[in-house]
Amino acid sequence: MSELRDLYQEVILDHTKNPRNFGKIENGNRMAEGFNPLCGDRCHLYLNLEDGIIKDIAFEGSGCAISTASSSLMTERLKGKPEKEARALFDKFHNLVTGEKEPSPEPPELDKLEVFEGVREFPVRVKCATLAWHTLKAALDNKAKMVSTEEEEE
Ligand code: ZN
Repeated sequence: MSELRDLYQEVILDHTKNPRNFGKIENGNRMAEGFNPLCGDRCHLYLNLEDGIIKDIAFEGSGCAISTASSSLMTERLKGKPEKEARALFDKFHNLVTGEKEPSPEPPELDKLEVFEGVREFPVRVKCATLAWHTLKAALDNKAKMVSTEEEEE
């Protein structure tokens, strides 16, 4: 188990040091901004959504290692994927890090995103890990306003 944990640490560290899809995209048609006041994490997400497919995705932001790694791994996982899959992954990821519900056994698979399972043991870090995903949801819903992890969901 500790070996597995080391591997997880490695993946998170790698994405913190070299975030994937970092920056803006030229042809973005959706964007959202997220803020986690508990930690000070910020996430700006840019999407090119066409015919229900996330053709391109990028993020900018500043924050702790977990929030950066989470944004990076999320964009890597979602690039080229249907919006429907992205929304299903939102639910699965949320369940994974909060442990609130049993993760749905149905696809899509979280794959590498499972490295965040350990976050469950650190409630303060859960919001760092989910910030990018809440921002994603706002972008998909085309909400212009800034989302905060401290706001109740409608
Ligand atoms: Zn954080």
